[in-house]
Amino acid sequence: MANRFHNYIGGEWVAGADWAPNRNPSDLQDVIGEYAQADAAQANAAIAAASAAFRQWSVSSVQDRSSILDKAGSDILARREEIGRLLAREEGKTLPEAIGETVRAGHIFKFFAGEALRLSGEKLPSVRPGVDVEITREPLGVVGLITPWNFPIAIPAWKIAPALAFGNTVVFKPAQWTPGCAFALAEILAAAGLPPGVFNLVAGSGSVVGEAIVSHPSVAGISFTGSVATGRAIARKAIDRMARIQLEMGSKNPLVVLDDADVGTAVNVAVQGAYYSTGQRCTASSRLIVTGGIHDRFVAALTEKLRTLRVDNALAPGTEIGPVVEQPQLDQDLDYIGQREGARLVAGGERLDRATEGYYLSPALFVDATNDMRISREEIFGPVACVIRADGYDDALTLANDTDTGLSAGIVTTSLKHASHFKRHAEAGMVMVNLPTAGVDYHVPFGGRKGSSYGPREQGRYAAEFYTTVKTAYVAP
Ligand code: NDP
Repeated sequence: MANRFHNYIGGEWVAGADWAPNRNPSDLQDVIGEYAQADAAQANAAIAAASAAFRQWSVSSVQDRSSILDKAGSDILARREEIGRLLAREEGKTLPEAIGETVRAGHIFKFFAGEALRLSGEKLPSVRPGVDVEITREPLGVVGLITPWNFPIAIPAWKIAPALAFGNTVVFKPAQWTPGCAFALAEILAAAGLPPGVFNLVAGSGSVVGEAIVSHPSVAGISFTGSVATGRAIARKAIDRMARIQLEMGSKNPLVVLDDADVGTAVNVAVQGAYYSTGQRCTASSRLIVTGGIHDRFVAALTEKLRTLRVDNALAPGTEIGPVVEQPQLDQDLDYIGQREGARLVAGGERLDRATEGYYLSPALFVDATNDMRISREEIFGPVACVIRADGYDDALTLANDTDTGLSAGIVTTSLKHASHFKRHAEAGMVMVNLPTAGVDYHVPFGGRKGSSYGPREQGRYAAEFYTTVKTAYVAP
């Protein structure tokens, strides 16, 4: 029988109400393990454990919190190869990408080890003579953290680390398709010295475990990353009971390529932004908005480059694009690829056979797309991008902003004037000039506008906005 991985509730490893296999998308015969599936009763037990642990943890020494987070960060970094391999095996991103994500998670824990010590408030004179006003930040309480499959260690890290740093207790539900990294993280946190109940892992389905967390009156805040549809459903329920929410959701990110761009740079930025990590990134630049003077050269060079990209087993040396994560996601990608809507498919979009059976798909490029087509408006979440022709910079900016979402936006140009204008006027939470629309450093805010995000930003100093609540106190002599 495959290895079984238990949930972590109240400081104990607890067998699941059920079990689910975790399969390798690069090799469907490879079962990584059987992972516990919690039911609603176990989710409630985890919430009760977190509630019981909150009183002490919320006033624990910042030195203790900092040391525990620092140790967790060191352990993640020390195990980077092993956890990176697990991540590549369960999610399908290439081994270098997976090790890079693991290193990122380690750095996030170390950053928040420092933030635990740096949490500051304010002291102001009152308008009443002789009286001072203090503004302090206190932990929120029990926080429910619900994460997607596409960054199975970095996203949990950037929620768990600030939650614990600022004195909250955690109930964590990872995505069902990638539970392996979540269990590795739980193991590391359990060994780092957290008191029982401060951190709890309850893997299982969103409709059971996720729902239990979202609707439980003891969960003071919910930080969610995932699709727009799920985020909206969570928001409605959470607001109904006045819980705090932070939602990071999908996006249809634009990359503008202007006539004055260097074609080589534009192709590199587009390939990395749209296709790396198999295009399964919320920041993926799946809309390539290209002005007329460079359009044909850019399309020719990008098409050529896509043909040379090596799509293969995530663990194989030299693989540039790993498999799609799971059959339903592959079906979704192929469904969009099949609906041409008048656009022309000039590269990829085909199932590929490799030495092992997996969900391999060649990177697909559409040209002659318009911004009203479904492939231009809906997040596909696979290695699929479309080129939309623009009539100069102003038109390109208008097209870039003509979307319901606004996580990241990029531009490739050698014009300082256009780069500066785009930075200011792109309706997105993050803007990249001559860089791929990938994630941002761990010490700066991550998040979007419009339908992409709701609530305070994640990461960096800004994380305190969600994970703390402000108190205003008066002191008279
Ligand atoms: P989903 O919204 O399907 O799932 C996200 C998480 O929510 C999973 O853990 C899921 O559980 C859980 N969930 C599902 N239904 C409910 C529910 N009713 N109540 C509570 N929790 C629920 O997204 P995906 O996992 O498919 O992730 C892909 C999406 O995530 C993309 O749209 C992508 O853009 C977005 N994303 C956004 C990022 C950002 O920061 N903006 C970063 C990364 C991804 P289960 O495992 O059962 O499905």
